[in-house]
Amino acid sequence: MEKGYNGWANYETWRVNLEVIDGDDANDILGDYARDGMDRDEMVDALAGYFEDFVSYETGILPREGTFAYGIVNEFLRKVDWEEIAEHYVDDYLDTNPNDENTACTECDTEIAKRDACVTTAGRIVCKDCAEGTV
Ligand SMILES: [Zn+2]
Repeated sequence: MEKGYNGWANYETWRVNLEVIDGDDANDILGDYARDGMDRDEMVDALAGYFEDFVSYETGILPREGTFAYGIVNEFLRKVDWEEIAEHYVDDYLDTNPNDENTACTECDTEIAKRDACVTTAGRIVCKDCAEGTV
């Protein structure tokens, strides 16, 4: 699939991902999200927000507000597709940690992390409550 720049939405997104985002930090954060029971879409939203907030004056990435440099950098960052970057890390994370992905209980439809799911003798994925009820 041909995208804007090196497989990313545009040059700004590619460059920010390359220079600013740390994959190890992203994986640590995603581990916390998984423990909080977030599903993929919630992880993408939260991580995109985290990345966007990370780029600030406090982290030294944004120059002081009101300066000429601030205006230029801010205009650059406005074009970044934060969600695309977040999706990249979330999908990588879920590929290597498939048990952190959520699934639905086939009995009561409650969303559960795969690592917390039980499998019945019939091979159905159920939550712990339903597992106890159907044993
Ligand atoms: Zn259930």
